Amino acid sequence: MKTADRKDEPVTDGMKNSTAVVIGAGVIGSAVAHELQKRLGNVTLVERDEPGCGASKGNLASIAVTEFTPISRPSTWLSIPGWLLNPKSPVKIKPSHVPRLIPWIWQFILSGRPSKFRYLEANGAALCRRALHDTKKLMGEIGLANDISDAGCMAIYATEREFHSDRSRLEAIKSYGFPIDIIDGRELHDLEPEIVPGIFKAARLPENKTVRDPYLYVKKLAETFTKNGGRILKDAVADLDMRDGGATVRLQSGQALDADIAVLCAGAHSGKLAKKLGEPIPLETERGYHTQIMAPGIDLGHSLIWPSRAFMVSPTAGGIRVGGTVEMAGLNAAPDYGRARITLRHARKLLPRLRSENSTEWMGHRPALPDTVPLISASSRVPGVFYATGHGHLGLTQAATTALLICDLALGRRPDIDMSAFSIDRFSW
Ligand SMILES: Cc1cc2nc3c(=O)[nH]c(=O)nc-3n(C[C@H](O)[C@H](O)[C@H](O)COP(=O)(O)OP(=O)(O)OC[C@H]3O[C@@H](n4cnc5c(N)ncnc54)[C@H](O)[C@@H]3O)c2cc1C
Repeated sequence: MKTADRKDEPVTDGMKNSTAVVIGAGVIGSAVAHELQKRLGNVTLVERDEPGCGASKGNLASIAVTEFTPISRPSTWLSIPGWLLNPKSPVKIKPSHVPRLIPWIWQFILSGRPSKFRYLEANGAALCRRALHDTKKLMGEIGLANDISDAGCMAIYATEREFHSDRSRLEAIKSYGFPIDIIDGRELHDLEPEIVPGIFKAARLPENKTVRDPYLYVKKLAETFTKNGGRILKDAVADLDMRDGGATVRLQSGQALDADIAVLCAGAHSGKLAKKLGEPIPLETERGYHTQIMAPGIDLGHSLIWPSRAFMVSPTAGGIRVGGTVEMAGLNAAPDYGRARITLRHARKLLPRLRSENSTEWMGHRPALPDTVPLISASSRVPGVFYATGHGHLGLTQAATTALLICDLALGRRPDIDMSAFSIDRFSW
């Protein structure tokens, strides 16, 4: 029997009456709840807001399967001092947040050591290799089979220098078997005539597809989950306790839910709850911004990424979405929409006819671990508790695969990839 078929099998009799609670209805929690409900049938999804209103609402819509190379590469950490000094750089670090950030940055730098880096890269590639297949299957199940584009993504290199500085990453993408096609500026212009002439080269990444509406994806997951008998509770999880054979999930309303399986998927807010279980995880937030342009005045087939400027332009259901960048400022600081305007200015250089009068701005919290690979793991302290968080820049990409892997772990099946890189054991207390 093929692996994909085995994963859809119902659970064994021993687990039939098990109850599961999933915490957080972002794209990760909603996908996990949907897959668990299909197999277990007794799942509650707890969300303090509406499903999909966190980071999953406004991301850049890219199933970015080639973005598996860890961000913690030496070229990134050597740039940190410059970022601290330049407020317009692709990464902004709020000075008052620096003291809190030092341990995280230190672990980030350590993750860029060559042997560690190669290990993380190989494991990131293993996760991303499945991502497009798993996402398409999941989108088909929830009635969104046609909501993913065919066109793929173009990585833009305006100058020879930009191209050469990303060369080793492009080689790595190729070496892991992802299709990639280097084209010159003229061919790029033929394929996407709105792009300014004179670009040096582009890398065509045909497997990096675009989801038409990432928010609709989460809403449909939640809707299908309830249609299949799942329950959504609008409440905040205030505490988690160990109990015999699982966990008690305590809600702000005072209600307590006993769960044989509890999955923590609270995005950038997962850190507080992990701490309550005695397992503090080094989770930070990398804040990102977008500008959604409802009447852009141009058409784009591909999504575009400009690596040296760390932003993307994606054709989405509601017009063109421009965004990206990283702002390290914690969970509570007010948004600085000047960050969105920086990327918009870059986008207008790339797409001179782009009109942006009719647009909205948005900020979201990426859940970010310092080694830049997610935490998809059983708890090391509390049997029955699992983590699915820390997906950073790739939560949309990896949601469907994460959900299947969590089902494997929670239902006692052996995942078909090595999970040690994603385990909680990698953090020491
Ligand atoms: C600008 C930007 C662009 C991006 N572009 C892409 C992209 O193109 N491709 C890609 O793959 N990824 C992208 N990402 C990353 C991606 O959006 C995230 O990795 C992903 O959304 C994280 O999903 P999540 O479910 O973990 O978190 P979230 O979507 O934040 O969901 C967490 C949920 O938990 C709830 N919650 C929190 N605490 C509690 C509690 N105590 N009780 C109950 N509920 C709680 C929250 O309300 C929230 O709904 C981008 C992110 C940003 C910001």
